[in-house]
Amino acid sequence: MAVTGAGGEPAAHVGRGWAGRVQPGEASGAARGGEVRLAGYTTLRLGGPARAFAEARTEPDVVSAVRCADAAGVPVLVLGGGSNLVVADEGFPGTVVHVATRGVEIRRDRDDVLLTAAAGEDWDAIVARCVAGGLAGVECLAGIPGLAGATPIQNVGAYGQDVAQTVTAVRAFDRAAGDVVTLDAAACGFGYRTSMFKRGPGRFVVLEVTFNLSPERLSRPIRYAELASSLGVAAGQRVPLGEVRDAVLDLRRGKAMVLDPADPDTSSAGSFFTNPVLGPDQFAAFEAVVRRRLGPGAAIPRFPAPGGVKVPAAWLIERAGFRKGYAAWGARISSRHTLALTNPGGATAAGLVALAREIRDAVRDAFGVTLVPEPVLVGVHL
Ligand SMILES: Cc1cc2nc3c(=O)[nH]c(=O)nc-3n(C[C@H](O)[C@H](O)[C@H](O)COP(=O)(O)OP(=O)(O)OC[C@H]3O[C@@H](n4cnc5c(N)ncnc54)[C@H](O)[C@@H]3O)c2cc1C
Repeated sequence: MAVTGAGGEPAAHVGRGWAGRVQPGEASGAARGGEVRLAGYTTLRLGGPARAFAEARTEPDVVSAVRCADAAGVPVLVLGGGSNLVVADEGFPGTVVHVATRGVEIRRDRDDVLLTAAAGEDWDAIVARCVAGGLAGVECLAGIPGLAGATPIQNVGAYGQDVAQTVTAVRAFDRAAGDVVTLDAAACGFGYRTSMFKRGPGRFVVLEVTFNLSPERLSRPIRYAELASSLGVAAGQRVPLGEVRDAVLDLRRGKAMVLDPADPDTSSAGSFFTNPVLGPDQFAAFEAVVRRRLGPGAAIPRFPAPGGVKVPAAWLIERAGFRKGYAAWGARISSRHTLALTNPGGATAAGLVALAREIRDAVRDAFGVTLVPEPVLVGVHL
């Protein structure tokens, strides 16, 4: 584990995604001088210095870095690929533990295959490996940035799949108990873009995640209409895994949802707001407001969801008057995806949050619906 106190250079956008600051040959546990600015470790390229920075390449390193900080009463920020984080310009007043553990184990379990990934493994590389190796269950999650250990945190999902469908166990360091524990899927409390880890942040440091996959060359049934249409199949059909991955990556690139250092539209944290789920009464009230504002014939896109209907946040934002490419406070709505707020270069975390606030307030004023941010906010508030 390498620990840095305070002037490190931002990470180059190379190696393991945008967080690739692993120093080859550096002794595990070695201390390093120099301030580490977190902007170099987040896909938004925002975030001031960490008070201390630990590069943890083994599980014992992760656990001991967290234990030491806890014993000293120092706040801890567990950092993966930094693709779902908005970190304050002032930085983080504690120890940032950058999870850089590696290792993937695959074993047969009757008719299924269990894949266990160390938390520091690159997520998209795991998806690519599953697709190439004929393992179905995560093919629609291609192109999502970040590391395996973060996938259970917000129950990563896209195009009709989420990891709740395949995660069977999460091994984690429980900071409250001071021990390593194994949690089954039920204990993870998965929901739409959330989990027990996100609802009660900070207690568990994920060390390993196990996924239950099917040894098949065909995908799980395609559930997402846009993906089915781009594959030219009916919803519910199954398609060769490689075709699904390619189609997902094409769709994602069209929306600047695949990281590309040359493309400023991808300097985001993905979708900035979750799609609101409205219960029956809330939806009736919302529908009345929409009819009043947009006319009696206005069609409202909606999808069934547990507890009500899901309304696309992007639709609300556009109807509240924001266009793709809208810029304010130094930040910008992506020119290819209304839900992604970007740093076009030179933005500050304060500016990005000010833009998010402007959007949230305008949607609330227009439709009475309060959008909730999807990324984890560190030292900043909406
Ligand atoms: C271009 C782009 C597209 C995206 N598309 C999607 C998408 O389609 N679907 C989707 O769900 N998300 C998407 N995201 C969001 C993001 O990629 C995911 O949430 C991803 O899982 C975050 O992983 P990370 O390693 O970067 O986590 P980080 O951003 O480093 O951390 C996110 C949170 O998880 C915590 N965390 C990270 N690792 C651990 C660990 N080992 N133990 C405990 N806590 C941990 C952190 O403390 C933080 O609270 C997108 C982001 C970008 C930039």
